[in-house]
Amino acid sequence: MPIIALDKLTKRYPLPDNKSETFLAVDGVSLSIEKGEVFGILGPNGAGKTTTLEMLEGLNDIDGGSASIDGIDVQSHPYKVKEIIGVQLQANEYFDNLSLVELLVLFGALYNRDIDPLELLGKVNLTEKASAKPANLSGGQKQRFSIACALVNEPKVLFLDEPTTGLDPQAKRNLWDLVKELNKAGMTIVLTTHNMEEAEHLCQRIAIMDHGKIIASGTPQELILEYAPEPPAAPLHGNLEDVFLALTGHALRE
Ligand code: ADP
Repeated sequence: MPIIALDKLTKRYPLPDNKSETFLAVDGVSLSIEKGEVFGILGPNGAGKTTTLEMLEGLNDIDGGSASIDGIDVQSHPYKVKEIIGVQLQANEYFDNLSLVELLVLFGALYNRDIDPLELLGKVNLTEKASAKPANLSGGQKQRFSIACALVNEPKVLFLDEPTTGLDPQAKRNLWDLVKELNKAGMTIVLTTHNMEEAEHLCQRIAIMDHGKIIASGTPQELILEYAPEPPAAPLHGNLEDVFLALTGHALRE
């Protein structure tokens, strides 16, 4: 049984220039994600990736269709679902005057969990920043800290919305390593990205989304084989005379 199942999931928003009309931001998306996968939703801006994740996370109402995580229906049991998922948002706001350790203890308390903040910071490679404030972290460190926050409830499924957008190449690599480590330890990870390299590097399977629809899905290899154009044919070597020679064993004019 897949750990995440979406069945014709749909979201309507008002049209920006005519609020009395709506459009389908997510247009009947059906997907199955298996336990232990890193699954990527790849698509251009406005494709509907974030809205899809928000519906799975219980942060946005579902207008049609259904979704379940670990067999729990997202719409009827949003709080049960929140207990088993970790959510890293595109931009996070924190209380300015708390340190990383204090914030993690606070998030743990919200989940009724007695967590070890230093162990969590160790997982995301931020031990030496334990007493720093989030405002004093670099972009990559902030992203890793927001993942630590998403891990306080030891989630079965981790959602990452464009986790490396805006990061420099080294910070991006560090975050990729973290995603791979978490996945190796058994966590199912669903991420959105518009970075092809990221999708190819991290994801076992990918769904490509455009205009609210999944237009293709599969392993990177399957997608390349099915959709990438063939490389241009190798330039022709030789000429018809060579063909004749090969076929007959002698030249046309001796
Ligand atoms: P992506 O994450 O792929 O960039 P989004 O899910 O953020 O796409 O957005 C999908 C579409 O829905 C876009 O056209 C976006 O402008 C629109 N949209 C997103 N959020 C809202 C909202 N709260 N109200 C109205 N339209 C929205």
